Amino acid sequence: MKSLWSPWRYAYVASNKSGGGCIFCQALSLNSDEEGLILYRGKQNFIILNAFPYNNGHLMIAPYAHTSSLEESDITLTTELVQLIQKCIKVLSLVYKPDGFNIGLNLGKVAGAGVTDHYHWHIVPRWNGDTSFMTVVSKTRVIPEDIQSTYKKLKPHFQG
Ligand SMILES: [Zn+2]
Repeated sequence: MKSLWSPWRYAYVASNKSGGGCIFCQALSLNSDEEGLILYRGKQNFIILNAFPYNNGHLMIAPYAHTSSLEESDITLTTELVQLIQKCIKVLSLVYKPDGFNIGLNLGKVAGAGVTDHYHWHIVPRWNGDTSFMTVVSKTRVIPEDIQSTYKKLKPHFQG
């Protein structure tokens, strides 16, 4: 698990140093959801593309509230969260036809969280052989698709 999650973690830490603040709150404050890579806004949570994806179609779901406490989140928020996870699986299955998914979250720096004070779920599509491929190229992931293409491909499926 550690090696799976680490690539984007380093990217996050690097980007946070230059940008400052919380990347989730920053994305929400932009005038354009496309600029912020936000695919869907629910009632209490939103879906955003990971700008430093582990794989094509690497999505994240976070609450609007800037909080680190999943355990304190109320039931309506967490219910919607699970519904949004289902939505992500449906859309990604349709668009990218992955063989499986890694879905989870890292709470706290020691657990690998790049952003520790605004919790967020990762939905990472997986294909047979992608891990061994990563090993072969010595920890460097090749992401064949640029992030704007991913956004344009996925966005229509999250509307309506
Ligand atoms: Zn935040």
